[in-house]
Amino acid sequence: MKTELCPKCGCRMMEDAFEEIVELKDGSIQLETVYPAWVCSDFCGYYEKMDANRRE
Ligand SMILES: [Zn+2]
Repeated sequence: MKTELCPKCGCRMMEDAFEEIVELKDGSIQLETVYPAWVCSDFCGYYEKMDANRRE
């Protein structure tokens, strides 16, 4: 498992899931796919999607 450092603040990145909020045409809000991502452990706001090439 690789260790990455946040390019913004230099803190460790931790593995997390990331949700996408989608607004539908009728105005309602839906939580879309949750996919793995790297998130800054200092919560500076930086995140990075993990390799998404594993779908097939
Ligand atoms: Zn950071």
